Amino acid sequence: MEERHPVDPSASGRQSASESRRIRIFDTTLRDGEQSPGCSMNLREKLEVAQALADLNVDIIEAGFPIASPGDFEAVREIARQVRGPVICGLARCRPEDIDRAWEAVRYAERPRIHVFLATSPIHREYKLRMTKEEIIQRAVEGVRRALSYCPDVEFSPEDATRTEIDYLCQVVEAVIAAGATTVNIPDTVGYATPRQMYELISTLRNHVPNIHQAVISVHCHNDLGLAAANSLASIEAGAGQVECTINGLGERAGNCALEEVVMALRTRHDYYQAHTEIRTQRLVPTSRLVSGITGMVVQRNKAIVGQNAFAHEAGIHQDGILKERTTYEIMRPEDVGFTTTQLVLGKHSGRAALADRARALGYRLTPEQLNAVFEEFKLLADKKKEIYDADLAALIEQEIAHVLDRWTFEAYRVSTGSGQKPHVWLRLRRGEQVLETELADGDGPVDAVFLAIEKLTGIALVCKDYRVHSVSVGKDAQAEVSVEVEYQNRLFRGRGLSTDTVEASARAFLNAINRIQAFCNGIHSGPQTAASTRPPNS
Ligand SMILES: [Zn+2]
Repeated sequence: MEERHPVDPSASGRQSASESRRIRIFDTTLRDGEQSPGCSMNLREKLEVAQALADLNVDIIEAGFPIASPGDFEAVREIARQVRGPVICGLARCRPEDIDRAWEAVRYAERPRIHVFLATSPIHREYKLRMTKEEIIQRAVEGVRRALSYCPDVEFSPEDATRTEIDYLCQVVEAVIAAGATTVNIPDTVGYATPRQMYELISTLRNHVPNIHQAVISVHCHNDLGLAAANSLASIEAGAGQVECTINGLGERAGNCALEEVVMALRTRHDYYQAHTEIRTQRLVPTSRLVSGITGMVVQRNKAIVGQNAFAHEAGIHQDGILKERTTYEIMRPEDVGFTTTQLVLGKHSGRAALADRARALGYRLTPEQLNAVFEEFKLLADKKKEIYDADLAALIEQEIAHVLDRWTFEAYRVSTGSGQKPHVWLRLRRGEQVLETELADGDGPVDAVFLAIEKLTGIALVCKDYRVHSVSVGKDAQAEVSVEVEYQNRLFRGRGLSTDTVEASARAFLNAINRIQAFCNGIHSGPQTAASTRPPNS
């Protein structure tokens, strides 16, 4: 029962320093993270991520903003219906129709939460809302009460809190807690705060809001100055009991606070923070890979905790130290965050069971159909490549997960080219039962020629904004992974493709982006994000 109660008294920090406080992890990868340009996910992908977040043992999943679009609504409702464990939360503005819609979506959850927000800073009051201070407090209180009429777990966020007058912020917070809000979230909406400032802000709220101990204080920091994790940790020191964050720090602009960074800072420096989370840290890397695979947003190699180089010790003097005693230079063990130590796993003769085993160890839950599809791809790859590494397998699985309905698939290509001549390309694609072929002589090189041929066959003209190739594992026969970012009707879409042949990987990446565009246009997708008008711009 204690566990189910939304209010955690320990979060207000009334304990002696020797006790460890439990910090709640509120993941907003599916709401704030998904707002990042080109990162929108379809329903199946959102369910996949939500299940991974439940496996990671986050406390709260913010599944979306139900009133933003029918797709958002459906995603939140399906996550509430299917995902067990965490609290499932839906976002709403302080408007009756928003709150009602949020409740319709989250009501199926084991433990639903409604998160209402309203801007409080002078600039928002004056220009966006055109409301007085008193009107804002009244609207906020009404919103909280309406949400409470549906469920006992209600969070309130004063948007742009860090640019709100502190006395007024205290009044707002006191009023919404008195109205029954069980969590009060302080967003640094524009990523402007500094750690010391966040510490003082949270301390002021704790010292000046008389009923503050009746709610959990939460923080929501953006990374515009690279300070999101530092600001969140400073807030925890000041008594915050919940951190809002995303996997890989996914989010608009420079992103949100990275979940993995806060979690591992608390764990590694427990001696200092005297606080802990319930996160299963061994799931961090698999979850990071899943989110990166689905959104197409590549994790930089030197990213803290989950980057490929995060545990690579290259300097000779470090290697020498590590060999003698790991803790000389290593503050965390790679296996604690889910980097697997066995790198070489499968070969041509490995069976389906071995593959299924390895996929599970890497953190993927595959349906029997997905497993079959991955196994087919795996056999093809094993013919071309002697040794299959974890990274190869993860890439194959992500490619399968990323597949969307009604897709174009790559069949074959041929290209002849040389210095100073226009490449000549022949390409065959499949769409369902249909097989389409084309030939052309154009482009700056073989990859460009294949892109042009794909545009011609699919009838979709794109602007390629970014194109990258990297090798997935090691050796001369390593697979190339190509990621592309394309613009279509002023929206960004990403695609990834995989092959031991770079031109083929490029074609697959381009097709993956086109499939996402078509899924989006057909409304299979979580709906057009008409959203500028309905989505909270920066919260
Ligand atoms: Zn935000």
